[in-house]
Amino acid sequence: MSNETGTNNVAEGPVLLTARWVIGHADSRHVLYENGEIVYEGSRIVFVGHHYPGPVKRRIDHGMALIGPGFVDLDALSDLDTGVLGLDHQPGWKKGRVWPRDYVNSGPVEMLDPDELAFQKRYAFAQLIRNGITTALPIASLFYREWNETTAEFVSAAESAGELGLRVYLGPAFRAGHSVVEDDGSIVVEIDEDRGAEGLERAIGFCKEHEGRYGGLVRTMLAPDRIEFWTKDLLQLTAAAARDLDVPVRLHCCQSEFEVQTMHKRFGTTSARWLQSIGFLGDKVLLPHGTNAERADLDIIAGSGATLVHCPIVMARHGVALDNFSDLRRAGLRIGMGTDTWPPDMVQNMQVGLMLGRVMSGDSARPTSADLYDAATLGGAQALGRGDLGRLQKGAAADIVVFKLSGSRLGHVTDPIACLMTSASGRDVDTVIIDGRTVMQGGIIPGFDFEAARQRAQTQFERLVARYPERTWQHPPIEEIFPSTYPIIPSRKARIS
Ligand SMILES: [Zn+2]
Repeated sequence: MSNETGTNNVAEGPVLLTARWVIGHADSRHVLYENGEIVYEGSRIVFVGHHYPGPVKRRIDHGMALIGPGFVDLDALSDLDTGVLGLDHQPGWKKGRVWPRDYVNSGPVEMLDPDELAFQKRYAFAQLIRNGITTALPIASLFYREWNETTAEFVSAAESAGELGLRVYLGPAFRAGHSVVEDDGSIVVEIDEDRGAEGLERAIGFCKEHEGRYGGLVRTMLAPDRIEFWTKDLLQLTAAAARDLDVPVRLHCCQSEFEVQTMHKRFGTTSARWLQSIGFLGDKVLLPHGTNAERADLDIIAGSGATLVHCPIVMARHGVALDNFSDLRRAGLRIGMGTDTWPPDMVQNMQVGLMLGRVMSGDSARPTSADLYDAATLGGAQALGRGDLGRLQKGAAADIVVFKLSGSRLGHVTDPIACLMTSASGRDVDTVIIDGRTVMQGGIIPGFDFEAARQRAQTQFERLVARYPERTWQHPPIEEIFPSTYPIIPSRKARIS
């Protein structure tokens, strides 16, 4: 168990790590030290380079490995992802992703109990750590919720983060509206300002109470879900609160055709123009996903200092891609990365981001591997105003990830970053250190039983899926909502799980 100051499991005295490759930072960019050394003491890095001159308490040689900064995940998957159910099952409104009128009238319910909600956050946090993510801003679906995320589940999330040692920015998602499928299949937006105001108030209360807990590992943020379900006044109050509290604010926008149409209907303009006109944009404003926007809109965001949160896998599964990464970066747009779906694998997201970035730019040389790696590290840190994250240099936080490059499946390694972009995955993460505390070693997170968690997650997910007909338009049976890829020929034997 960790204590509230977050000092447990932190080595006393400097620790020196070596590996074939160490990513340091000099002149505002990452550099690669071959046969490099990194030394940290307490929660801070004291040295990166060659030939550390001082005494050390411990030395660990990771051999054929890459030691780099932990990833910053600005849209970090934090539940048992139901988005994957949509892989071959569309449109979402026929598949339980928009509440039907009769479900709304009968009063939506929490489909998970407090214990289940707490479990899935803890489970997700462990998965993020094992994928080399050291800073996470959780995101989860609201479709199976009664309305907003609750303060109570975020109190337990703070405890899980503190205990597992994950650096987080937490805040319950809240909203002032939602969409409803009418009996005839048309979709309408309903706004409830009182509920929006109440959600904002609770979220502010959470920030005030929990900011800086666990020795600063737990920070807070405001998460006003998605743009099309807001009013000008409430979103302005949210932005003002974020500035007062000096916390990041994350708002999903420029991410769907439905949003584009709704914004035109409700406000007669585009999401980016509307956000600019109401004074919402600025530093520490995080905007997933930017795929459904004109270039002029993305230029507005670029000029504002806000960060676009790029989650290439989840968007590509829906058939869309950012247009396009390199041109937008050149235009000054800040871009950070998010996982947002299962698996919460930042390496895979960088790979897909690299490939789609080239498809969309029409240029086989842009973006580069460094562009994606920068976004997943420095881009996220910049979005949070954290010059001490996303890089390994003297004075920075000791948030360190060790990728094993000796696995025989990886093949031959030339450039270690190129290896991440072609052959590696989050499964190659071996050791994770956050704030100077070794939270995972050799793939093992002390106190977290991945096999027991997997079984529980499977059961919990199946229970949740079984309830989809309740809130799916016209309530078809589950086999009709999510038919299997191929016809299933049943067996009489007991099921293997
Ligand atoms: Zn998202």
